[in-house]
Amino acid sequence: MNRERPKLGIVVPCYNEEPVIEETVRQLSDVLTSLMREELIAQDSFLLFVNDGSADRTWDLIERLHDRYPWVSGLKLAANVGHQNALLAGLMQAKDRCDCTISIDADLQDDVRVIRDFVLKYREGYEIVYGVRRKRDTDTWFKRNSALGFYKLMKSMGLKVVYNHADYRLLSRTALEHLSRFREVNLFLRGLVPLIGLKSTEVYYDRLERFAGESKYPLKKMINFALEGITSLSVEPIRFVTGSGFLCFGISLIVGIYALVSKLMGNTVSGWTSLMLSVWFIGGMVLISLGLIGEYVGKIYKEVKSRPLYLIERDLPAQNALEAGTG
Ligand code: UDP
Ligand code: MG
Repeated sequence: MNRERPKLGIVVPCYNEEPVIEETVRQLSDVLTSLMREELIAQDSFLLFVNDGSADRTWDLIERLHDRYPWVSGLKLAANVGHQNALLAGLMQAKDRCDCTISIDADLQDDVRVIRDFVLKYREGYEIVYGVRRKRDTDTWFKRNSALGFYKLMKSMGLKVVYNHADYRLLSRTALEHLSRFREVNLFLRGLVPLIGLKSTEVYYDRLERFAGESKYPLKKMINFALEGITSLSVEPIRFVTGSGFLCFGISLIVGIYALVSKLMGNTVSGWTSLMLSVWFIGGMVLISLGLIGEYVGKIYKEVKSRPLYLIERDLPAQNALEAGTG
């Protein structure tokens, strides 16, 4: 493994990113070539664009950019598999072709100037470098606070999380090899990477506006993503269900004693209100609990089937790698 002048692979998952991709390639190419000039990274470092089954012309553009720039490579997935799986596809493809990878979104929301800091940290000997958003004023109030709530919830369940870190990070080849041994179908990279261990650090940046196009994470998807993240990493919610079951049982005992005593004292007017309330309350608890357990059963079902997370349709290696004979 080369620490002095690593071969770097920048992995970019793309889903319907036609409006941004050319600008993304331009900016990332600027960064990449200037790092090459500074001799901080190897000459055959590359960009890897993973086309996650886009319905627009994203792949056509990637092919065209691959012809134009020797450091642009592409990976075409056979179908849309979602951000996390597409990213994993790219990382696993890059794993055997470089010393370290940096994953970044296609929309230029993560400041590309930080790539230099990532590389410097790698050269200092770190295996994992997390990109952490310093301020998030470009995100809505709601997105900021729901994200904060989510991190707190994860922490309270004993999961390891890096606050305000999304999927902008550097992984060394060793880290990638370790990551490849996690055989999960329900993938939540942000929760998995901290489990790898190894020497890690953080670099800070300001999150920018989406350059063009629109977010593929509307509220409903965000909630699903959060739920996925928690249930794929922790069984704490099931314990919570058990706990609340005991609590309800305790309360019902007290209420039962109260009802009995008041009946013995001749007070037989039945409390319709309290009856209704408790029926609804318990009913709600039961449904939530069932839903939660169902969530886990569904997860187990998926893990047991262990379907492939992605299927590769085409692979376009970067030309500079072919020239150097390392592709
Ligand atoms: N993405 C993907 N597959 C999907 C959805 C999104 O590869 O099914 C990519 C998308 O092209 C982008 C990244 O994942 O590069 C993050 O998506 P987005 O910017 O829409 O999410 P946000 O930044 O709003 O959370
Ligand atoms: Mg984005």
